[in-house]
Amino acid sequence: MDSRSNKEAVQATNDDASASKLSCVKKGYMKDDYVHLFVRRPVRRSPIINRGYFARWAALRKLLNQFLDTEGNAGEKGHLKKQILSLGAGFDTTYFQLQDEGKAPYLYVELDFKEVTSKKATLIETCSHLRDKISATASISRESGEVLSDHYKLLPVDLRDIPKLADVITLAGMDPSLPTFIIAECVLIYLDPDSSRSIVRWTSKTFSTAIFFLYEQIHPDDAFGQQMIRNLERAVAWDMLKVYSDFVEAQERRRIERLELFDEFEEWHMMQEHYCVAYAINDALGLFGDFGFLNHRRQQPQPHVLNPSSSASP
Ligand code: SAH
Repeated sequence: MDSRSNKEAVQATNDDASASKLSCVKKGYMKDDYVHLFVRRPVRRSPIINRGYFARWAALRKLLNQFLDTEGNAGEKGHLKKQILSLGAGFDTTYFQLQDEGKAPYLYVELDFKEVTSKKATLIETCSHLRDKISATASISRESGEVLSDHYKLLPVDLRDIPKLADVITLAGMDPSLPTFIIAECVLIYLDPDSSRSIVRWTSKTFSTAIFFLYEQIHPDDAFGQQMIRNLERAVAWDMLKVYSDFVEAQERRRIERLELFDEFEEWHMMQEHYCVAYAINDALGLFGDFGFLNHRRQQPQPHVLNPSSSASP
C-alpha cells in the first residue's frame, strides 16, 4: 500500500471514476458541467457501467439533498449552517454542482493525497469555469495542493494519519458541532481495516451531529461495516440492487433505462449486489429523525437535463 506504484494505482482509480462519470454525462444519465474539465481522454463506457455510476450518483445526491434540506427549529429556518467533508474526494465535482444549484453548504471540505489535490488545485486556478465558483479572495497553491476559499477548502492529507487529519479539519475551519455530512465514496476500500476503523471512530467522536455516507464494494469478510455500526448511533446498509429499485426515483429509473440498449440483466444484478450504500448517524441536535432510505416525505425528483447529443436507444 505504501509503495509508490500502489499509491499511483489508487490515484489512477480517481481518473477512472472521472472518465466513467463523463461517459454517463455524455449519454444523458446525469448532468455535470464540470467533470469534463478533469478528463484528458474521454472514453465510452458500456451501458452496465454507465447504469452503475448513475445509481451511485443518484443515491449519493438523494441522501445529500435530504441532509441539505434538513431544517432545525422553526426559528433557524434557512439559517442552519452545514458542512460537507469529502474523504478521498479525488476529482469529484459535487461542490461545483451544488453551487450551480444554489445548494452549496456553508463549508465544503475535500481531502486527498497531495498528488491529487495539487492537480485539482491547478485546474481550479486555471479554469475560469471552476475558479468562478469560489471566492475571489481564495488562496490557491499548486505546490502545496491547497485551495482555501470562504466556503470551499481543498487540502492534502494521508487519511491514515489521524492526528494530521484532525489538524487539517481545524485548518479548514470546520466546526465539529455543526451538522456534517461525511462522504467516503470508494476510498476506504484502499485502506487497511485498522485505518478505516480509526477514521470511522475519529469521525464519530469528532462530529456530534453527522451523517457518514459510504459507497463501497462489499467484502463479506470485512469487519468495517460492523465497526461502523458499533461506533455510530444508527447505521443502515443496503446493497445497490435494493438502492436502485427501492430508493432511486422510479421516474428517474424509467428515464435512464431508455437511454441505451440494455440486455445484461444477470450481470447487472450480480454487480449491484456487490456494492452497497451505508450511512451512519450521530444526532446530538436531533435533526435526522426523518433521514434515510425510508424517507418518502421529502422525496424530490433528481435534477437532470438531457444531453441533446445523447443517442437514446428504444
Ligand atoms: N471519492 C471520489 C474518488 C474515488 S477514487 C469519487 O468517488 O469519485 C479514491 C480516491 O481516494 C483517490 O483520489 C485516492 O487518491 C484517494 N485516497 C486513497 N487512499 C488515500 C489516503 N490514504 N489518503 C488520502 N486519499 C486517499
